[in-house]
Amino acid sequence: PDTEYFRRFHELENFIQRFNQDFNQNIQVVEKEYQPKEYLKDISQYKDEPEGGKRCYLCYSKRMKDAYDYASLHHFDYWTTVLSVSPHKNSQWINEIGASFNQEKTQFLFSDFKKNNGYLKSVKFATLYNLYRQNYCGCIYSYQDMLEREKNKELQK
Ligand code: SF4
Repeated sequence: PDTEYFRRFHELENFIQRFNQDFNQNIQVVEKEYQPKEYLKDISQYKDEPEGGKRCYLCYSKRMKDAYDYASLHHFDYWTTVLSVSPHKNSQWINEIGASFNQEKTQFLFSDFKKNNGYLKSVKFATLYNLYRQNYCGCIYSYQDMLEREKNKELQK
């Protein structure tokens, strides 16, 4: 949903700005055009899949392809994704998708950022920077699942 998209994007921009100041870095945020209709058209073929199923594999692939395209166009040595920090994300799939792109143009940094307490560290970091923490993954289907979960919680009270 667009409100959520822009909220997360602005949170990212603000965070990177503060991170750059605190750690003397010059990380830049590059935004690809927001194209929700095109995205939904593609993933809707798997609308009945549970989170973590085929819909997510396609979703990872689409987003990683965008990162790969940018990295190869700009001759980056390496590219990767932060997706693997989440306990809900399948790192094996992420690395499999990364390996499927041409490694000669730009190399995929194979990773599982949730290892070595990576997820816990990310939570601590989010607390330190008082970051907004989303309560659903991102697509409209995960949003609907979240509403359903909330409703069930209310009914159990
Ligand atoms: S936004 Fe999340 S739940 Fe939805 S398809 Fe992508 S990875 Fe799966």
